[in-house]
Amino acid sequence: MINSQKITKLGAVAGACLCFAGATHGSTPSKTETKANILLIFADDLGYADVGYHGSKGIPTPNIDSIAKNGVQFVSGYVTAPVCSPSRNGLLTGCYQNRFGGEDNPGPFGATEDTIPGIPLSYKTIGERLQALGYKTGWIGKQHQGKHPRNSPIKRGFNEFFGFNNGASEYFIRGNRKQRLVRGSTPVKYEKEYLTDAFGREAVDFINRNHKQAFFLYVPFNAVHGPLQVSKTLLNKYSYIKNIKRRKMLAMLDSMDANIGKMITALKKNKVYRNTLIIFLSDNGGKPKGNASLNTPLRGHKGQLFEGGIRIPFCMQWPDHIPAGIKYKNAVISLDILPTAIAAANGKIASDWKLDGVNLMPYISGKKKVSPHKNLYWRFNYSWGIRNNDWKLVYVKGKKAPMLFNISKDMSEKNNVIKEYPEITAKLKKDYDKWSSGMMKPQWGWQPSLVGKTRIKTQH
Ligand code: CA
Repeated sequence: MINSQKITKLGAVAGACLCFAGATHGSTPSKTETKANILLIFADDLGYADVGYHGSKGIPTPNIDSIAKNGVQFVSGYVTAPVCSPSRNGLLTGCYQNRFGGEDNPGPFGATEDTIPGIPLSYKTIGERLQALGYKTGWIGKQHQGKHPRNSPIKRGFNEFFGFNNGASEYFIRGNRKQRLVRGSTPVKYEKEYLTDAFGREAVDFINRNHKQAFFLYVPFNAVHGPLQVSKTLLNKYSYIKNIKRRKMLAMLDSMDANIGKMITALKKNKVYRNTLIIFLSDNGGKPKGNASLNTPLRGHKGQLFEGGIRIPFCMQWPDHIPAGIKYKNAVISLDILPTAIAAANGKIASDWKLDGVNLMPYISGKKKVSPHKNLYWRFNYSWGIRNNDWKLVYVKGKKAPMLFNISKDMSEKNNVIKEYPEITAKLKKDYDKWSSGMMKPQWGWQPSLVGKTRIKTQH
């Protein structure tokens, strides 16, 4: 029934529209009849070029590619920050983290000595929102929200947590020397498996235990973030790669993809595959000089607001509701995941949630033909940016001045056209300034000149 190639040729929106009508009015259940299960998989420091479905050769991601192939790939998919923690703050709340000063990773400096880095209690997480709709919720993997106990997933809307709270983790935990790997809030005594395999094991176990009710499983792998550690057996599979960092990174990616495959198999085995919304994305762009991840053809890297820092692999599938083979080209952002999940859960989004994201389903289906966002904004330490459809105005720390790109035609940000389009530049700057003035100043982080020199009491 669905000709995915035709969709691609026709353009995402028109193609999606034709097919979606069939999917919703055919024999499959409508959204109002069933609550979707939601599996949200978040990679760490995985670059735009590090998935097979973006056209790179020799990338071991058949399972990630299958999500894109069986649903929708977002060609212009963004996160809200070019580093770990603020990106997670945006994802988990559906609100720009700048609203609550969560602009940087947790660091030594705070607005006051009592500042607690992490999502304020006045902001509800996606876990809390879905728990309120009767979902069983699990978080398996990395946290990176600051060390105060109130940030623990089990206090912020997740029934279960297995993982660690830090920017990075060793991959061979064994005796858990640093006591960072916890179940709930209790340190794990011994973990015999490679950490990515342990997360996969726990995720499959969660699905096996909870498939009879609506569940939300959030799996933020720390792969492929450093340290670059992997078993010799897996490393040998990539012995033909000369660059040792790249060899290790591909082996780590292989492991993450294989564990995503185990989750998909568990969904199928438990007969909940078709009504599970699976979302995959990375928390920020790759860092070629760090973990040898690649962002080609994008400019820049993790830590920057060039596309390479914030435009990431982003795809989702939901066989009962999204036709296969869609390439959606308008810009979307990780903020859209919370409202999309709420809609898939038959929940209602209240205006007082003040979300910055939108439910993507009507856009994917073609019901709404406009771009989901008039503007997208970024503010990260000294850098800032705004995207309005074809245009992106960006200031990247270390550069002399802002730059304007026609990002639809120039995704590699090679041609700065700021001198040719002063009116567009002025309009975008005005919009950005208005947005930025409505945000809170950074409340914690590593930049005393932005946050203030006060050292915070709580551990970061
Ligand atoms: Ca990251």
